[in-house]
Amino acid sequence: MASEIIPQESLENTFGSNVFSEAVMRTRLPKATFKALKKTIDEGLPLDPTVADIVANTMKDWAIEKGATHFTHWFQPMTGITAEKHDSFISPTSDGKIIVEFSGKELIKGEPDASSFPSGGLRSTFEARGYTAWDCTSPAFYKNNTLYIPTAFCSYTGEALDKKTPLLRSMQALSKQAVRILRAFGNTTATKVTTTVGPEQEYFVIDKKLYEKRKDLILTGRTLFGSKPPKGQELEDHYFGILKERIAAFMLEVDQELWKLGVLSKTKHNEVAPAQHELAPIFTTTNIATDHNQLVMETLKKVANRHGLVALLHEKPFAGVNGSGKHNNWSMASNDGQNLLEPGKTPHDNEQFLVFLAAVLEAVDEYADVLRVSAANPGNDHRLGANEAPPAIISAFLGEQLTDILEQIENGGAKSSKSGGELKLGVTTLPALPKDATDRNRTSPFAFTGNKFEFRMVASSASIAEPNTALNTIVAETLSRVADRLEKAKDVDAEAQAIVKEIIKKHKRIIFNGNNYAEEWLVEAEKRGLPNIKSTVAAISALITDKTVKLYEKHGVLTKEELHSRYEIYLENYIKVINIEALTALDMSKREILPASLEFAGTVASEIAAIKSAGSKSSAAEKLLAELTATIDSFGKNIEALEASLAGGHSTSVFKHAEYHRDVVFTAMAALRIDGDKLETLVDERVWPLPTYADLLFRV
Ligand code: ADP
Ligand code: MG
Repeated sequence: MASEIIPQESLENTFGSNVFSEAVMRTRLPKATFKALKKTIDEGLPLDPTVADIVANTMKDWAIEKGATHFTHWFQPMTGITAEKHDSFISPTSDGKIIVEFSGKELIKGEPDASSFPSGGLRSTFEARGYTAWDCTSPAFYKNNTLYIPTAFCSYTGEALDKKTPLLRSMQALSKQAVRILRAFGNTTATKVTTTVGPEQEYFVIDKKLYEKRKDLILTGRTLFGSKPPKGQELEDHYFGILKERIAAFMLEVDQELWKLGVLSKTKHNEVAPAQHELAPIFTTTNIATDHNQLVMETLKKVANRHGLVALLHEKPFAGVNGSGKHNNWSMASNDGQNLLEPGKTPHDNEQFLVFLAAVLEAVDEYADVLRVSAANPGNDHRLGANEAPPAIISAFLGEQLTDILEQIENGGAKSSKSGGELKLGVTTLPALPKDATDRNRTSPFAFTGNKFEFRMVASSASIAEPNTALNTIVAETLSRVADRLEKAKDVDAEAQAIVKEIIKKHKRIIFNGNNYAEEWLVEAEKRGLPNIKSTVAAISALITDKTVKLYEKHGVLTKEELHSRYEIYLENYIKVINIEALTALDMSKREILPASLEFAGTVASEIAAIKSAGSKSSAAEKLLAELTATIDSFGKNIEALEASLAGGHSTSVFKHAEYHRDVVFTAMAALRIDGDKLETLVDERVWPLPTYADLLFRV
């Protein structure tokens, strides 16, 4: 299977074959309908309802030819995963038969019961109505005999109950401000600026049979016990290593499924940790990239299952082993074909680029807390600020060339751009390589990488909607400030230079090109006054500060009520996740680890008795028994402590309740783990009930 060769032609035909794409629409829709729809998609104009009827009918015919019997509005509630409710295309007729039907109304609007989705107090459960609204900017697709229609999800009163609505609003907000700046620079062609994203997805793949023996993986997505294996990632032999045949076959099938859905899956490789991999698509419009990333996560899981494997998307499935993240590559593109973060050959005299760059830096510094919370979830607490990449402190890497230019600007004016030159390898048959103007920095949470920023804090299991909503909104804000000034300026170039200079002076503390993992950086960052927000619970407060509310309301992205609802939802989610982890840890402790350890201690005790009655003695066995019983005792006490912790902490404040779970329950769970992991190293592997880290990571 792994070596199956796909002919080029079939590759080209496969790609997007299950997408109701622009090409499909162009050939199937009447010209006028296509034009009207295209105007809505490209220029953001409201959709004419008569157009919807024709589109719906055409979509239905197309989907039925593929084998569809149902359609579903596909949406992204606050659970972070997608939701769907399937309806069949059938409609009864008066003579007891059916006709196959799909109306514009059904395409545009759906009414899933909203009461069982998290709303964070935006609605009571007795108010069940919720609406989904067709998002025509993300193409419909066919999968599993069903036509999927991407939609936004809101309450009866119009508040966003999902992650897509604010994302779309933030894209609109950024476009508006960016176009103002382009206009100020004399651009008359661009009418829209979209943000683009290429999310690199990290994940682990393990054997399903072993997975099924681990309640912690099944119920929480991560291992709650497991001592460090004799071999980890220290040999650095996994990164970019040869793909195992089984993994290669799985990856090929993932690619093929994704290609059919129009996902531009491009790069795949082994990551740093054993059993860890990465998939990166080619970038696209943020909204579509967000939908596609959901499809990527879903496809990884589904296809893994077919191969007797399990894909783990959790941020930290294995303690002491590299965790997973999502690298959110982000830029801004105008509809007249410019990447607004493309520095060009001589960035020092590229005023427009420098203005956009400066605005991003200002946004990242001023709203570091808004960005930080967009990457916060309980899983990511094990990465960010917990001895792993990247730290919880937000800083931006610019590299040598741009840092030099900004320094020149700060000291008067920029006269030159350092170039990378050529790299000669000293072998005449090897080509001279043009060198990038800047080396890379793998440790920065927010790195400029040539013509885009790479936001590396994003959680591997989370939707990328949130980080991009945050990024778009904070940049829309700083762009609006720049636009206000440029629009009033007599000499736009001089004003642009002044703006960039001011921003650099004020926000240069956010630039850090060094090693973000070094201890010294923590000290230096504190000196610079950069926030170091270590936990999800602490980060969440940023959602409801006056400053954040003002920001989101000004740009029409989220209202105060919507922000408060999100605040509640995330805190409640945090509490629930920790609670489930604690209950799972207790279950495994009491019903697996403790019985196995006691059984083994009993065996050792009878061995000792047997040896003694034979007139000998074994100090090794006695030492082992002593260590076993001591650890079992301590383990038992820690079980009680964790149980007791779960009984406490009730508070009328959801924030206090969450803090309690972080400080007390989580800590008790960590203490229990230490003894549990020690027992693993003491107990006979023939009676140990759980597959070990070595089994999970190396037996794929
Ligand atoms: P690396 O792992 O070296 O960072 P990859 O090739 O794995 O690089 O991923 C880079 C990602 O950045 C890809 O998804 C790519 O499509 C994306 N990207 C490139 N240019 C842009 C851009 N202008 N806007 C958004 N994403 C981009
Ligand atoms: Mg990367």
